[in-house]
Formats: sequence, C-alpha cells, structure tokens
Amino acid sequence: MKFGGSSVANAVRIRHVAEIVKTHLNAKPVLVLSAMGDTTDHLLEAADAAYNTGKFSLDRIKKLHMGTVNTLKLPIQKEVKTLMDELASLLSGISLIRELTPRTKDYLVSFGERLSVRIAAAYMKSIGIKAEAFDAWELGFISDSNYGQAELSKESWDLIPKKIIPLIKAGTLPVVTGFIAQDAQGSITTLGRGGSDLTATMIAAACKAAEAQVWKDVDGILTADPRIVKKAGPVEAVSYEEASELAFFGAQVLHPRAMQPCMKTGTPVLVKNSYNPAAPGTRIISSLRDGSLQGKKKILPVRAITARLNITLVDIVSTRMLGQYGFLAEVFSIFSRNRISVDMVATSEVSVSLTLDASYDLGELKKELSRIASVEIKTGKAIVSIIGNVKRSSEILSRAFRTCQLVGVPVQMVSQGASKVNISFIVNDTEAAEVVKALHLDFFEH
Ligand code: ASP
Ligand code: MG
Repeated sequence: MKFGGSSVANAVRIRHVAEIVKTHLNAKPVLVLSAMGDTTDHLLEAADAAYNTGKFSLDRIKKLHMGTVNTLKLPIQKEVKTLMDELASLLSGISLIRELTPRTKDYLVSFGERLSVRIAAAYMKSIGIKAEAFDAWELGFISDSNYGQAELSKESWDLIPKKIIPLIKAGTLPVVTGFIAQDAQGSITTLGRGGSDLTATMIAAACKAAEAQVWKDVDGILTADPRIVKKAGPVEAVSYEEASELAFFGAQVLHPRAMQPCMKTGTPVLVKNSYNPAAPGTRIISSLRDGSLQGKKKILPVRAITARLNITLVDIVSTRMLGQYGFLAEVFSIFSRNRISVDMVATSEVSVSLTLDASYDLGELKKELSRIASVEIKTGKAIVSIIGNVKRSSEILSRAFRTCQLVGVPVQMVSQGASKVNISFIVNDTEAAEVVKALHLDFFEH
C-alpha cells in the first residue's frame, strides 16, 4: 500500500491513512510512503537557495515535521531532531562551498521520505499496530549511481523479498521510504520524481504480493479530465499498456516506469483515493476480457479520452523522400542533435508530420531541417487521444471522426500505432475541449 505526499501531508491525514491501513491488516500489507506534502519541493528549494545565495531556511520543513510529531504526541522528537540537524549541516555545507552535485541533491531530498516513515510508523505504533520504519536500502533497494533517476539493480529482485517476507511472517507492518535507494558505494540515490510508486510496485512484484495498491488523491483513472467533462467518471479497469499511454497524455495515474515491475509479473495495480476510500478505484491488469469486470459488464471500446494542449506541429515535405532510404533517419537525427523529443509521428511517401511540446526553441531545428526539406511549423495545437481497444479501431475511428464532423472541427493529423491502444489526432488548441466533450458524450454517456 503506497500513500503519496498529499495523503500523508499532516497529522490529520496520517491518522486517516492509519485508519485505512488498519482495515487491511489481515492482508499483511507493506506500507510505502512519500515525503509529507510538498516536502520534496521544499527541500529542493532550500538546496537551491543555499547553493545560489548561501542562505537557506528550514522553517517550513521543521514546522511541518515537528508540528506533526507534537500533534500526534509521538515519542520520537529526538530522532526527528537528529535528522533535522543532519539536514541543516548538509545545507550549511552546500551554502559554504557553493556546490550542489546530483549526488548531494539525492542525499538531501532523501530526508523527506526518511522523516515521513518515522513519523507515520511511530503513530501507528502508538495506536497498537506493530509497525516499523525502514529506509528502503535496509530492505534490498540497491540501484545504479545515476543520481536523480537511478535504476534498481537486478539483485533487488532477490534481496527485497529476502528482507521483507520474514518481517511479514513476524507480523510486522514495514513502513518503507518510497523514492530512494542506495548504490553499490552506499550513497543515497533517488528513483526520479514521483518514484515512490515504483518502490511500491517493485515490492509488490518482487514479493509476489496479491496486488499493489497506490493511494492517490483522485478516484483512480477517469474517463476524461473532470474540469472539461462534467460526467467524467472512474474507469474500473485498464490494461498496463492503456495505463501507460494515459500517463503520457497527462492523466493522473502511474508513471509508466512505475508499472514496469508489476507488468513483468502480472501483479495487478489498484489505484485508490485516500480521500474517498469507499470508491472502488481503478484496477490496472494484464488484459481485459468481457465479463472480467464487476457485474460481468461488457467492455466499452474506449477506456478514456484525453487532450494535451500547447503542442507544436512540424510539417516536413520533400519529394526527395519518394522511394528513398535514409531520409527519415536524417530528419530524426536533426531532432536528436537538437535534443528535442518527438511525440506523435505520421508519414506519407513525401511528407512527415510530427508533434512536439511547445516549450522548445525551434530556431536551429528549422534551419537544419530546411536544408533537406520544406518545413512548416504550426503552434497552438492539441493532441486528442482516445485510449481503448485497438481491435475495435474501425468502430472507434468512425465514431470519433463523425463526432469531429458534427462539431465542425477539422482533424489535422492522425496517428494510430499498429498494436498500440492509442488513437491520436491533432486539432487546434481552442477546439480541444469541445471535441473531448463531444467524444465523451458519444463513447460514455449514450
Ligand atoms: N517525494 C518524491 C516526489 O515528490 C517522491 C514521490 O512523491 O513519489 O517526487
Ligand atoms: Mg511527492
């Protein structure tokens, strides 16, 4: 069971998490926690301040953690203070030598999770749960030294269950730091922002748990953005592939990286809402079949509809492309040299269209592309994506385009992968909301 920052943001929320965990103790859970609230951001801000100005403040972080310890009347003031002092020394060091390496940064942000698990475990103990706090490396989380984005090592797959199963058998509730690990030299590493989800899915997969529960502050995956579509509702189940596509298109779900361990072992991941534990949440599983849903419902062709705004469309046309080889390689090597990540691609014999995030500076790119083709760059676009069962792509495409026609919105580019679960198309930014609403009406509300 993993609870994110907002689920453990203060004393009230921690009490609430304990209530939820209590009702699951029969299932012998392992608990994974993020840093409290926005602590990770606050730690990074303090580090930047120390590095840039030589001054920093730990007031916010101290107040939150000490305040929570006091409110919950936990006998761990000394332990928390020791960690705070270590953190303050580290920041002083940074402000003195004005150096902030990726390794130091990881060491620094690790304090967020190390504090939260100690506080939460102490509270659970105080209400009679046999909880114990652990830093993930004590339970087999070994990674490479790619600070900020470390990769867990293969041996972790063996080490983690070796450490955790005996604890479970002894009736302990391990409360484990998400997000962090240790490399072979014993330096602290982090698994990338939002990495606590990965900690949880890794434990679930390596220990062959019945499922990984990821508790967030939304009712699971929704059929659409509720700010756009009033009737958007939770999706009962999606496949790992569908969930990965959704994550990219900005849906509030798991990072695809976090799904990987469970994908490997076929372990289901349940996304639940800690603010609304009664809601069923969304189950992420290997594959969906008709009747596999609760109440043996028929599976709809579409799982969810999303839109990503602020997209730039690049149109590259060259007759040189006809029957040629190597042209696309040349085009993509230009993107690669300019370190620009391409999202969608569609090609014909003499043209290739692709999309990028609007945040890039495209001056150099345009110059280089213009040497081999004619290039047009169009800003203010949106990607509308329909995630669903591509075996029913003809039905999805016909309904989707009919809907676009009905609302009078021309589709400017289309892309559908061969075996993928995503049908995407480009419209103007200003038309995206209307299209998503109309599609939702057609696929979900009728
Ligand atoms: N605390 C870390 C972050 O904010 C990890 C996590 O929350 O999953 O990125
Ligand atoms: Mg967080």
